[in-house]
Amino acid sequence: SGFAAMGLVPELLQAVTDMGYTQPTAVQTRAIPLAMGQGADHAGFIDLMVSSQTGSGKTAAFLLPVLHTLQLQQEQAKAAERAAFERACAEAEAQGKPAPKRPKRKNPLLARHFEPAVPGALVLCPTRELAQQVAHDAIDLVRHCKGLRIASVVGGMPYQRQIAQLQNASLVVATPGRLLDLQRSGQIRLEEVQFLVVDEADRMLDLGFADDLAEIHRLTAHRRQTMMFSATFAPRIQQLAMRVMHEGGTGVQ
Ligand code: AMP
Repeated sequence: SGFAAMGLVPELLQAVTDMGYTQPTAVQTRAIPLAMGQGADHAGFIDLMVSSQTGSGKTAAFLLPVLHTLQLQQEQAKAAERAAFERACAEAEAQGKPAPKRPKRKNPLLARHFEPAVPGALVLCPTRELAQQVAHDAIDLVRHCKGLRIASVVGGMPYQRQIAQLQNASLVVATPGRLLDLQRSGQIRLEEVQFLVVDEADRMLDLGFADDLAEIHRLTAHRRQTMMFSATFAPRIQQLAMRVMHEGGTGVQ
């Protein structure tokens, strides 16, 4: 399919097939290869400013490239862990010592004390309903990606449940106010966010989230890529794009 030609990891291709997506939509065809760093200049990750309407398939257009990289990074981390363990076994054997024990994985949901979440990717949505929809789509897409966890952080939900859900989350979908609450109370750390997506940026500004966006921009200053999706390219959206993206982002119509 058109998705396979994009070079997405097999786990995501399988999910897309399961969900009945046979061909990428127009916005997916334009945005996914650019977001994956396959642009004409092969410049690695570039910032994108994408014009998109609801129903265009925009959600998968930003989720697929981000989840693709998170999955690759997770595979690399696991391979490194395996190699280190094998080295330790070989060393022990050479010295006639007993083989080391395999590190145990704890179920984070059973932890008594919660560690702060340190997600690699963050998707910001203007409303709780949209955030829940995006998180739902992300959960559908990672069904074959073992170990990639999705959390949603939205206003009006019990804190304790969200904090439990945040444990080991790789991708967090959030409304800005609640995200900053959890950041200030130390439940979530944003300094390892590599990918930042702002969905429905025009509605985000309509709802008065400009200052929260500026704060999240500052807290994720070391990120590698920013993508903004918006129904319009109005001047105020372009101003926001100029503030938070390299050269205002590459435009994708
Ligand atoms: P969105 O614009 O992201 O809200 O997506 C609109 C709807 O299209 C959602 O129900 C998606 O599940 C669906 N969708 C997204 N991409 C595709 C695709 N490539 N083929 C078929 N349906 C899709």
